[in-house]
Amino acid sequence: QTAASPSDVPAIRAPRGPERTARGWIQEAAKRMLMNNLDPEVAEHPETLVVYGGRGKAARSWAAYHTIVETLDRLENNETLLIQSGKPVAVLKTHEWAPRVILANSNLVPHWATWETFDRLDRAGLMMYGQMTAGSWIYIGTQGILQGTYETFAGAARKHFGGSLRGTVTVTAGLGGMGGAQPLAVKLAGGVSITIEIDPTRIQKRLDTRYLDEVAHSLEDAIARAESYRAQGVARSIGVQGNAAVLVPRLVELNWTPDLITDQTSAHDPMWGYLPILAPDEDAAALREERPDDYRARAYEAMAAHVRAILALQTRGAVAFDYGNNLRHRAQEAGVENAFDYPGFVPAFIRDSFCEGRGPFRWVALSGDPEDIRATDSALLELFPDDERLQSWLSYAAGQIAFQGLPARICWLGYRERDRAARLFNEMVADGRLKAPIVIGRDHLDAGSVASPYRETEAMRDGSDAVSDWPLLNFGVGIASGAAWMSFHHGGGVGMGFSQHAGLVAVADGTPEAAKRLSRCLTNDPGLGVIRHADAGYDRALDVAKERGLDLPSLGI
Ligand code: NAD
Repeated sequence: QTAASPSDVPAIRAPRGPERTARGWIQEAAKRMLMNNLDPEVAEHPETLVVYGGRGKAARSWAAYHTIVETLDRLENNETLLIQSGKPVAVLKTHEWAPRVILANSNLVPHWATWETFDRLDRAGLMMYGQMTAGSWIYIGTQGILQGTYETFAGAARKHFGGSLRGTVTVTAGLGGMGGAQPLAVKLAGGVSITIEIDPTRIQKRLDTRYLDEVAHSLEDAIARAESYRAQGVARSIGVQGNAAVLVPRLVELNWTPDLITDQTSAHDPMWGYLPILAPDEDAAALREERPDDYRARAYEAMAAHVRAILALQTRGAVAFDYGNNLRHRAQEAGVENAFDYPGFVPAFIRDSFCEGRGPFRWVALSGDPEDIRATDSALLELFPDDERLQSWLSYAAGQIAFQGLPARICWLGYRERDRAARLFNEMVADGRLKAPIVIGRDHLDAGSVASPYRETEAMRDGSDAVSDWPLLNFGVGIASGAAWMSFHHGGGVGMGFSQHAGLVAVADGTPEAAKRLSRCLTNDPGLGVIRHADAGYDRALDVAKERGLDLPSLGI
């Protein structure tokens, strides 16, 4: 299970174009997407197989990675490769409509589903952390979350600021794989942002990829710049280097209150994600290695200070929300009893979309040609002329987003929309408008594929937040519908013990068989989002279920 040392690892880049070495396009797509997840343009730490989200990995070890690639190249069209926490464990004879790959990542029996158990198994080489799209091979870089983040800030703008964030300042932290989307998303929603990040290399990366506009020299400098942009009504993003557990409390001391406050550091993982407050001569890696208990205790202490400051800013009038990293729970564990006084972003701004099965729909051009993405952008603009959010997002994205790795796009579509888009892409591959097949997938942060009581299923109307039958049904439905590859994970963005979720990927290779698979998968998968919310009693979901023809016997629909 030993990983090669970083210097031994050559940069990985997925093959491009219409020629394949695997025996079918699904296998070829899985191989290219695994490789793309580890492309240095895409992954946060490719040398250790870490794609994003703290330690979310694409394969358990370099040996496992190479075996997966070799196996995908020899996998027949009636076989299925099984991946257990990033390790290829078996090839089974199945049938041509079955998924070519089934993956299970980081799953533990609930009583043992703790970071301590996971860490022990991880150290023993028996598991890896799959996050959401890292271990399921459908991460597309920071753009992947940009649309979701934009939906969130646009939702906040609609709910609290008359539809635009113009003239507002948002303070947040974390410029990692996901968090790096925040400054651009706030800007797209019209606002000014200050993002605190401890690691200067992350700040530089976001400047280089145009997700961040400028860096301030200090917190005071950041505030002065933000005030000036706010007064001019200019949308602009400012980064500042420092520990959020120091700088957010300093906002309280300075008596300066932003309009919105949130956070996207990797608080879900107290050992490998959130950095404690360190003295100038202290090294985080050495402290973690030599005194892990001390490290963890100090990370918790820092998260408690951070959340106390968020609560203080909320009391002073800031709109506070948790951005899906479990920071509130960590702070509560560290003694902040009222940490949950501010809501998660899903009940605050996203649930209505989930009731329509609306969620992330992403696609990747295996040709490697950005023109293929431009063609699909135009096709979707034509297909959904009345969807204003989609129109403004896609028009912006087409002009402004720098691709990382294989050219890719994301937008949010609902039930009976995703299947139409997928079939259209398949037709475009068939008639040569696209130069090679398209991979279609989604984040696990979606309407019907996740149980996560502090995030996607927080504050469900019927109290069913922790019921994880739903993601298991989603996993089964994806397999029954003929997904290209299907995954079931534990932990994801909120950490061990806090969520279970399924991921679906399909491939449009232009064949009639693909059209059937795409129709079933991209109807049933978002359909489960509507079903889950209708079952929980949301009126909008009940209406959508009736209007769009779902068959829900227990609800008389
Ligand atoms: P990441 O590990 O790539 O980045 C986290 C960043 O936080 C790093 O750049 C790190 O240097 C910085 N950081 C850590 N501690 C800090 C501190 N005390 N002060 C300032 N900066 C600090 O992770 P990511 O992919 O960006 O994800 C961030 C978090 O958001 C994770 O917990 C993830 O699970 C969660 N997440 C939420 C959603 C969502 O739907 N809202 C989606 C994906 C991920």
